[in-house]
Amino acid sequence: MDTQLLVIGGGPGGYIAAIRAAQLGVRTTLVEGEFLGGTCLNVGCIPSKALLHLAAEFDKAQRYAADNALGIRVSRPSLDAAQAIRWKDGVVRRLTGGVATLLRKHGAEVIDGWAEIVDGKTVDVRGQRPGGMQTRRISCEHLLLAPGSVPAALPSLPFGGRVISSTEALSPEAIPDKLLVVGAGYIGLELGIAYRKLGAEVTVVEMLPQVLPAFDAELARPVAASLRRLGVTVHLRSTVLGLNDAGDAVRLRDEAGAEREIAADRVLVAIGRRPRTEGWGLERLQLDMDGRFIRVDSQCRTSMRNVWAIGDATGEPMLAHRASAQGEMVAEIIAGGSRRRFEPAAMPAVVFTDPEVVVVGHSPAEAERAGLDCIHAHFPFSANGRALTLEGGEGFVRVVARRDNHLIVGWQAVGAEVSELAAAFAQSIEMGARLEDVAGTIHAHPTLGEAVQEAAMRALGHSLNV
Ligand SMILES: Cc1cc2nc3c(=O)[nH]c(=O)nc-3n(C[C@H](O)[C@H](O)[C@H](O)COP(=O)(O)OP(=O)(O)OC[C@H]3O[C@@H](n4cnc5c(N)ncnc54)[C@H](O)[C@@H]3O)c2cc1C
Repeated sequence: MDTQLLVIGGGPGGYIAAIRAAQLGVRTTLVEGEFLGGTCLNVGCIPSKALLHLAAEFDKAQRYAADNALGIRVSRPSLDAAQAIRWKDGVVRRLTGGVATLLRKHGAEVIDGWAEIVDGKTVDVRGQRPGGMQTRRISCEHLLLAPGSVPAALPSLPFGGRVISSTEALSPEAIPDKLLVVGAGYIGLELGIAYRKLGAEVTVVEMLPQVLPAFDAELARPVAASLRRLGVTVHLRSTVLGLNDAGDAVRLRDEAGAEREIAADRVLVAIGRRPRTEGWGLERLQLDMDGRFIRVDSQCRTSMRNVWAIGDATGEPMLAHRASAQGEMVAEIIAGGSRRRFEPAAMPAVVFTDPEVVVVGHSPAEAERAGLDCIHAHFPFSANGRALTLEGGEGFVRVVARRDNHLIVGWQAVGAEVSELAAAFAQSIEMGARLEDVAGTIHAHPTLGEAVQEAAMRALGHSLNV
């Protein structure tokens, strides 16, 4: 046996599993075919948030160049796109370098190369070695599959030429004059907003009747209003038919059947992601599948003994923190002594649009569908001092709690910088807090967190500031 644990994939699922396993004394080898850090650090969470920050700062500078309420006067700013992308790449490099250092520090072996499964205990790794391209066969006691996901393609708009995925959109050579985004989910809107703030004319096309279709309409409304304010054109209930004959515009059909063409220099297809389950011999294991995903139980065991799977390849929600939490758990089970199960009470999800959205647990409608008798209450940021000092008086915090014992089962918020409330929301649900616990906790003034306390107070019928 060459190694006790062989991990395929160095994303936030695989690298966390490898670090934790090595920390616990498990002989661990991680195989990564592209870049340590996976989608998240290289072409996902981190570069997209860097691009959003960059765009927000540029947009701010542009607003200050015109008349503005704050009285700041600057001359007209310009963008050095090449330097901006170098800065973003620097953030990515720093984090991926950190992952390599951590793996080394804890004694996990890292092999560069693409893994091809031979059987449940044997993997061939093909990679560039000093003598040229070589294949190395590795045998293991436990095999952990963390291959992640790839952008889903649209048959009517295959990737290539001006049709790009989020990966290319995160490393533009220049900001296009006209960007058309297909899909108004979180990736499409985050990138669409960033490009708009960097100066592109942006059009978003969505098949469903609202932006952020995975979220409730009340949360999506302030985001839709902000898109209008920013000058992003949105076509809802519209289907993309393909490029026109000249290849410089996208053909759409609206719900009434009318067709139109929208000119675009770049077309970003952001309709979702699919698990990376093909092209590396996974079928040889004949695992039970869940549609396109690898089926796992509550300990991330697949249908084959000592073969485990985590992260995007195992289902929704496809989020980095889910992959990491699963990876940490699997490492502890393999190391022995842990009987943990992956059954989180709270799984936060954040959309880094302008304004931001955060959801944890049940919305009122989801609680009802789950058969829970709940009360819910909002607190608007228009009544929160800190939000007003951030020029962010729009949006709200909403709490959902059981009517009988006030146990909190959900939090939602939309507003400036609400992503940072995700920790308080998740902790309160995970720790079994009741409305009285949050209402009775002293929250610092002036902070957005006071809106969290006030929402709980309002649900109890005694809000003080609204
Ligand atoms: C634009 C964008 C923005 C996002 N923003 C967020 C966000 O804000 N918050 C959030 O939580 N999530 C976000 N995500 C999702 C997040 O990136 C994923 O959920 C997360 O990366 C999944 O982790 P993973 O470990 O399962 O897989 P991945 O990160 O996809 O890593 C899998 C790794 O496995 C390697 N691999 C695959 N097959 C093989 C093989 N056969 N041999 C060797 N190596 C292999 C791949 O090269 C890859 O590096 C975003 C995604 C995108 C695209």
